[in-house]
Amino acid sequence: MLTLREALQSADTNKTALGHFNVSDLSAFHAVVRAGRRSNLPLMIGVSEGEREFIGLKEIALLVRLAREEHGLSLYLNADHTHSLEKSVAAAEAGFDEVIFDASRQPFDQNIRETRNAVEVLKSIRPDIIVEGEVGYIGPSSEIVESVPVESLKLTTPEEAIQFVAETRVDVLAPAVGNMHGLLPSMVRGETRKRLDIERIRQIKQATGAFLTLHGGSGTEDADFVAGIHAGLNVIHINTELRVAWRQGLERSLRTHAHEVTPYKILPGAEQAMEDVAARRLALFDGQPSPLVVGRTGSSESLNA
Ligand SMILES: [Zn+2]
Repeated sequence: MLTLREALQSADTNKTALGHFNVSDLSAFHAVVRAGRRSNLPLMIGVSEGEREFIGLKEIALLVRLAREEHGLSLYLNADHTHSLEKSVAAAEAGFDEVIFDASRQPFDQNIRETRNAVEVLKSIRPDIIVEGEVGYIGPSSEIVESVPVESLKLTTPEEAIQFVAETRVDVLAPAVGNMHGLLPSMVRGETRKRLDIERIRQIKQATGAFLTLHGGSGTEDADFVAGIHAGLNVIHINTELRVAWRQGLERSLRTHAHEVTPYKILPGAEQAMEDVAARRLALFDGQPSPLVVGRTGSSESLNA
């Protein structure tokens, strides 16, 4: 199995991107692993501070290790949006492949100072760990949101990006390039899509040479994903789409099994919906055009990706 750094380098060379999927329970974990096995592509699992508290820090680290050993999956584990040094260190010590140290809500100079310190501390624990930092603010959480956060309209500049990467020595940069966390109701219904500033992605890539992550990828126009990857994106985060698929799959399953009380008979409907979302995204990020995915129990309703 490639290391995460090697997988990122390979994606960069081949103009593909690694799919990054957030999980908080065993159903989502199974869904992502099955999508990875179907596609046979490298992929990432992310757990935010809230998600890792729910599923368990050591539990998810063990589950990922098990999936690698059992299935030969190139699966990597990321401590998504970690706001404290203490939690970053705990993730590094638990064996995570990557930590996103997120001080992006602080003033730019303070973001640089805190991120540089986190990089030094984490690399002293595990020299091979990948550390990501974030410039720009794209909203707080992967939920259904009523409006676009105003701050996310201010895109990361190439000048900010180059200063941030040079001074913090992060391996991966997460810029604000038209993306945002969460989905508007119109996006859940499939009526509108997020649009990326492709030229800005290209400028930031050329300025920094760093690996780039797109956060808040859910609900983005497919063509923008493809163009964004060609412009330099190496990792794409999908969370809200999975959460919407989970809820829709669960509701459908509860309707179908109206008198059922056995979790393992109800939950596969939610798992299948999440698996289909992850599989379609993986194929798109790998450059495969509109794959036909046939689900075992039907696919998600509103989101067609
Ligand atoms: Zn994010």
